[in-house]
Amino acid sequence: MNAFVETTNLARASIKSPLVMGYEVVIGFETHAQLSTQSKIFSRAPTAFGAEPNTQACAVDLALPGTLPVMNKGAVERAIQFGLAIGAHIAPKSIFARKNYFYPDLPKGYQISQFEIPVVQGGEIEFFLGEQKMSVRLERAHLEEDAGKSLHEDFIGQTGIDLNRAGTPLLEIVTMPDMRSSAEAVAYAKELHKIVTWIGICDGNMQEGSFRCDANVSVRKPGEPLGTRREVKNLNSFKFMQQAIDYEVRWQIEQIEDGIAIQQATVLFNPDTGETRAMRTKEDAADYRYFPDPDLPPLVIADEWVQRVRAEMTELPRVMAQRFVNDYALSEYDATALTQSREIAAYFEAVAKECGQPKLASNWIMGEVSRRLNADELVIAACPVNAVTLAALIARIADATISNNAAKQVFDAIWNGEGSDVDALIEAKGLKQMNDTGELEAIVDSVLAANPKNVEEYRAGNSKALNALVGQIMKGSKGKANPQQVNDLLKEKLG
Ligand code: ADP
Ligand code: MG
Repeated sequence: MNAFVETTNLARASIKSPLVMGYEVVIGFETHAQLSTQSKIFSRAPTAFGAEPNTQACAVDLALPGTLPVMNKGAVERAIQFGLAIGAHIAPKSIFARKNYFYPDLPKGYQISQFEIPVVQGGEIEFFLGEQKMSVRLERAHLEEDAGKSLHEDFIGQTGIDLNRAGTPLLEIVTMPDMRSSAEAVAYAKELHKIVTWIGICDGNMQEGSFRCDANVSVRKPGEPLGTRREVKNLNSFKFMQQAIDYEVRWQIEQIEDGIAIQQATVLFNPDTGETRAMRTKEDAADYRYFPDPDLPPLVIADEWVQRVRAEMTELPRVMAQRFVNDYALSEYDATALTQSREIAAYFEAVAKECGQPKLASNWIMGEVSRRLNADELVIAACPVNAVTLAALIARIADATISNNAAKQVFDAIWNGEGSDVDALIEAKGLKQMNDTGELEAIVDSVLAANPKNVEEYRAGNSKALNALVGQIMKGSKGKANPQQVNDLLKEKLG
């Protein structure tokens, strides 16, 4: 196993599967991640999205006679990066195979893929489902070329063929059937998405098809062998993914309850109806007549190459999260949330270093900052409160100049464009906490004198009576007293 990640299956073994109507749900994922190379996997044609049809397909992509594929080193390097990121074995020698089938958008009549010996083998992906740590084992990840596209919409009684996408490099990432709920499947897919975009091997754009997930779904009674699966395609958002799996699970259970056996099939999710519908019965590997591609030599990856890629790799999210736990004393849960993207992690580190208050920084980023970003549909790069400003604000909470509530007012003011000088805003809004104990004491004394009943109740053992007094004092100070200081003073006086 790779030194990058410590793997454990203990987490999975100790989790009880949630049941749906008495059935256990079993899910395995196949994800096609489009690799972010400039050119195609076996030709020099560009891979950019959205060009005029058939302007980015060269002779190799068109399968003209006499053309030969040449391996793109950049695609292999990205596969190695992925393998290292998930603690997989990088095969020193893997083989390209022809997967034979007929389709108009596949001019060669076969797709070049990897079959028996894929480049990335094993590995594991860990993530949180709520506060529960989960892990999903990967079976493999292999390199392959994409097919072209059939265009049905712009033609009446005809189909257009666009071969721009033909030969685009894909990494197909296949899990073991380890997932036990739609929520777990979505959490896995989000984590995988995070990893491939974090290490920069895929742009992750689900709408443009750069990250395509197929969910293999089956159900069984607990303890029974695996049920027959159906493969659900067309899950181009995390929301649809969950809907589609939930629908599919209910459909399969209803069939079984009605005494109808599930047929292995490929089904398509229709986001308009929220239903899945059989597209074709599922082919078996034998139908594809796989055989090694005689046009391509085995893919040989020397250990030095792997080491070089490893040395150049960016710090991985899980490693960074662990560092946040160690260096900033954050919980594993908080550290994971803060490493949901490189941008958020960088923002957190900048704030934490600047103000020296990592826990407060973490709370603020996961609280106010996230809340406002979500509400305004902004990404962190467009956050109106930059790291230095947030750090200045947090420093004023830490040195007791302002309360947390007052800080929220300052934060909102900065967000709304009222300025970015924290101290000036505190001054202008009169939010400074009362740090003059003499002044505070006078308020406390007058509140105690005016509320003898509460004082009596508190002394009789009703600790709630204290809250009423604190409330009065805060009001008396126009919210500027430090609640902790008020509490301490009160206890001292009533004690
Ligand atoms: P294929 O021959 O179609 O590639 P595989 O056996 O390689 O089939 O599995 C493809 C995917 O389906 C994998 O992600 C695997 O985990 C998943 N899978 C296999 N069997 C089941 C099952 N019974 N229920 C759910 N998922 C399954
Ligand atoms: Mg398979």
